Amino acid sequence: MIQISEKCVGCGKCTTACPFGALSLVNRKAVASAACTMCGACVSQCPVGALSLPTSSAVKKDLSSYKGVWVFVEVGQNGQTQQVRSVGYELLSKGRELANQVGEELCAVIIGSNIAAFYGEISQYGADKIYAVDAPAYAYYNTAAYANALITLIKKYNPSVVLFPSTYVGRDLSPRIAAELFVGLTADCTGLAIKEGHLIQTRPAFGGNIMADIKCPDYRPQMATVRPNVFKKVVSAPGKMAQVVKETIPVPAQAAKVRIVSTHMDPPVSGQKLDEAEVVIAGGRGMKNKAGFDLLENLARVLGGTVGASRAAIDLGLKKKEDQVGQSGVTVSAKLYVACGISGAVQHVVGMEHSDVIIGINKDANAPIFNVCKYGLVGDASQILPKILEQLKK
Ligand SMILES: Cc1cc2nc3c(=O)[nH]c(=O)nc-3n(C[C@H](O)[C@H](O)[C@H](O)COP(=O)(O)OP(=O)(O)OC[C@H]3O[C@@H](n4cnc5c(N)ncnc54)[C@H](O)[C@@H]3O)c2cc1C
Repeated sequence: MIQISEKCVGCGKCTTACPFGALSLVNRKAVASAACTMCGACVSQCPVGALSLPTSSAVKKDLSSYKGVWVFVEVGQNGQTQQVRSVGYELLSKGRELANQVGEELCAVIIGSNIAAFYGEISQYGADKIYAVDAPAYAYYNTAAYANALITLIKKYNPSVVLFPSTYVGRDLSPRIAAELFVGLTADCTGLAIKEGHLIQTRPAFGGNIMADIKCPDYRPQMATVRPNVFKKVVSAPGKMAQVVKETIPVPAQAAKVRIVSTHMDPPVSGQKLDEAEVVIAGGRGMKNKAGFDLLENLARVLGGTVGASRAAIDLGLKKKEDQVGQSGVTVSAKLYVACGISGAVQHVVGMEHSDVIIGINKDANAPIFNVCKYGLVGDASQILPKILEQLKK
């Protein structure tokens, strides 16, 4: 909430400046209500400088005491077995690069129950150290418990950078931690780099029309989330074993408000999950109707792939929202990506351009999709696809 000092003379200028109606005069003194969003609009309007935004203890700390690149490695359930989500290894691979640039340690943070089996593989992706919180109470993800564990570790060790996967868990967890630590958080980064000692966090802005470089020069840690498949996995230290630091962190009382009774994951309709698929056959508005998408399903079946879609196709009801590839959908990094009847709008391309081989089928030879394709077929997809299927079946 905005801070109001003794200097207040009760002129009322702040009450009219506040866009949220959060300020009022009581006994000729300004008073802020819970509606205050700390937007700061009132501060410059006060003629006697009585209003100020609160500063956190994190602000203007000696930044040199913050060292190390941290990656939150998420453990997920795959049926009855638990496994490290692949995006954790992608972030460790990128984190290794960043840590090398600043000459600091790369550390993984892993929380769960019976997780020791994962330390070896985490080490191979370049982690120097693994902070492990391993207790039955952490068997299932719980927002309050996991956030408390991470906040405790961050306050204890002062990392300079903390990276989270942009998964359901990462998206739930990271803003709570950022708010508690009073630091910034850049969501869904598509690029990370170090410049003059700061983390440069690149992400699409203004509907994907520009790429914004964001840095947090005054606050630590610098926090970002990254979607699966944005960075490649690189085993940089085969056979290496990181130093494991076991931490015991009691679960706070508020975590007991939520109890996980059971978990259930819907299987994909066909093939692998979109973000894990090696072959993606994607359709856009140009596939027109269900018959068009049936052709894609047939091709996916023959090639062992998964069908994805552009937003226009989703809007037409041809696929479900979770099958959308692109900026506001899933990012894929397939070995083969076939884009059928998709124009190649930037919001779609950012979600598939990291695929190894991209094939475009479009009746418009000037469609932008061909700018990112290795092979392009100009023509009517509803005629080309049956021919491809016929050849494959032979
Ligand atoms: C904030 C924001 C976020 C967005 N997020 C996403 C996102 O995550 N994913 C996404 O996909 N889009 C997203 N979009 C929408 C995006 O801008 C495009 O509108 C969308 O990708 C277009 O889908 P499309 O290529 O299927 O359709 P269109 O642009 O209409 O293209 C259809 C293509 O099909 C071709 N075609 C037509 N008939 C045939 C045929 N018989 N055979 C072969 N080709 C044919 C046409 O030549 C054309 O190139 C977003 C937009 C905004 C503003």
